[in-house]
Amino acid sequence: MPEDDQNLEEELSFSPENIWEKIDKEKRDVVFSFADDYIEFLSSSKTERKSVEEAEKILRENGFKAISEYDQLRPGDKVYIINRNKSLAAVIIGEDELSKGCNIVASHIDAPRLDLKARPLYEDKEASVALLQTHYYGGIKKYQWVSTPLAIHGKVIKEDGTPVDISIGEDPKDPVFVISDLLPHLSKKKQSKRKMKKVIKGEELNLLIAGIPIDDEEVEDKVKTNVLKLLNDKYDIKEEDFTSAELEIVPAGNSRDVGLDRSMIGGYAHDDRVCAYSSLKALTELNSTKKTALIIFFDKEEIGSEGNTGANSDFVNSIYSKLLDKYMGDYTMQDHRNMMDNSKALSGDVSPGINPSFKSVHDIQNAASLGKGLVITKFTGAGGKYSANDAHAEYVALIRRIFNENDIPWQTSELGKVDEGGGGTVAKFLANLNIDVIDIGIPLLGMHSPFEVISKADLYYLSQGYKSFLEAE
Ligand code: MN
Ligand code: MN
Repeated sequence: MPEDDQNLEEELSFSPENIWEKIDKEKRDVVFSFADDYIEFLSSSKTERKSVEEAEKILRENGFKAISEYDQLRPGDKVYIINRNKSLAAVIIGEDELSKGCNIVASHIDAPRLDLKARPLYEDKEASVALLQTHYYGGIKKYQWVSTPLAIHGKVIKEDGTPVDISIGEDPKDPVFVISDLLPHLSKKKQSKRKMKKVIKGEELNLLIAGIPIDDEEVEDKVKTNVLKLLNDKYDIKEEDFTSAELEIVPAGNSRDVGLDRSMIGGYAHDDRVCAYSSLKALTELNSTKKTALIIFFDKEEIGSEGNTGANSDFVNSIYSKLLDKYMGDYTMQDHRNMMDNSKALSGDVSPGINPSFKSVHDIQNAASLGKGLVITKFTGAGGKYSANDAHAEYVALIRRIFNENDIPWQTSELGKVDEGGGGTVAKFLANLNIDVIDIGIPLLGMHSPFEVISKADLYYLSQGYKSFLEAE
């Protein structure tokens, strides 16, 4: 037994600490260099499609091949599966049989943004400009998306199936786009009395795109027609092509260091590309693979995991069938069932960090802070755990043991105060497949804003934590 009260407290109590105190100069270089690589990934992965492309590049550099390139899968093989260019699975086949299940880290690579409407382009004659109408995707605070430089990324698929890539606003020489807010001088009646959700309304999120009229007396909409001509000259598209396009309006510019001490990273879509990237890095650095290690990037989490690229689809079943088919040839429904039942998963997603100016929304003892390590979230949901995956105590104990044995610093968190609000992740959809799953991520400030903030120390240990889980026997 401890000798005095101070030792007794140390011995028995649990209180996560600021992990920077334990990071020496040498370690800090490792942490900062990991962050630099992540900043590069995040800056060039502004959409779910781009995230898949960048991930595929990293996978191929590390010896992974598409499943179609394999005739048969054997232990140690590195393989990936891409679903409709928007979701992805990457696997290292373990020494154990596939029916013993996988260790899974699943995250999502879609992020809140503004999409274009199907007929977005119009000319405002009084304002003398052309604009693009948008329809927001996911839970945004609309007022955060005005008066800030925006980029356009995505694909136009022409009638004959030809894809056209569009990416404008990231190169310093590129133009950017903007949604203009109302000036304060005239906001008093029209805008000042509006509630927060309607400070900017959906139909007011119109993107400024051009102002020069086409030099042609015959044309009625001169600015709009000039935009169409510019698009046609550069991309060989016409107005109807917008109907089969997925063009996403996102914050322009790179992610970057935040703070005098450079301890943080600010950028668009840490939620949830930070978990996706960390799991990808973890997978490429595994030392042992007794169990099959699987990472999954889902699309559509921000709108409820719907659709055939989201977590509430048969994508996981499809991954398992493909792997079993290449591994065993003939396999039974029971092989498939066993592989599912014996799998264990982490749902990789971010948590709210304690916001220093809005502390009252958190129960501080059950909230996460930047720089205190991974966040174990036993359950998400809203109110009385409605719509939550509530991880079993036995499973939480296993995860806690893996992290403690591998010196991974961790803390715990609820989304906020019990009756304050709520939300969910992909966890419950994995649970529906009879897989044990728990949410493991890092704290973040300004979630769903154009410039979210994370700690570099948390980021580094997130990847280390995922690695220790993927390697677990
Ligand atoms: Mn998320
Ligand atoms: Mn989110």
